[in-house]
Amino acid sequence: MMEQLDGLYREVILDHFKNPRNSGALTDAAIREEGSNPLCGDEMIFFANVDGDRLTDVRFTGKGCAISQATASMLSEQLEGKTFDDVARLINRMKALMQGQDLDASDDVGDLESLAGVRKFPVRIKCAALSWNLVEQAVQQYREDANGRH
Ligand code: ZN
Repeated sequence: MMEQLDGLYREVILDHFKNPRNSGALTDAAIREEGSNPLCGDEMIFFANVDGDRLTDVRFTGKGCAISQATASMLSEQLEGKTFDDVARLINRMKALMQGQDLDASDDVGDLESLAGVRKFPVRIKCAALSWNLVEQAVQQYREDANGRH
């Protein structure tokens, strides 16, 4: 499937797959969320700390296909230092992109834009979505827990 992607996008995805950013486990992380995509065999764990309402120390570990692992790497770069609201906005934009909407000039999603070609391959959308679904779930859970403590 990788060979069917547009050349430039393919290069970006393969670069993140081969040289993943923010890869590695975080001990004593405020957020730890685990998930998998059984259709492809992708596995992922998301770690982060929280400063106020911002994500810090964003890390991923995982194994699986190039799309799943590269997405985690690209996403991690965008999440670092973002507020929970900005994280939710970014994830909504990525979901919309996968559903066929195009990004507009105000969307700053970094290398994640290289995933635009993936939406032509519905089975692969789940590989990409694993990371942001995990992050979305983790942030929701964290906020619920934080509210419960007040
Ligand atoms: Zn996959």
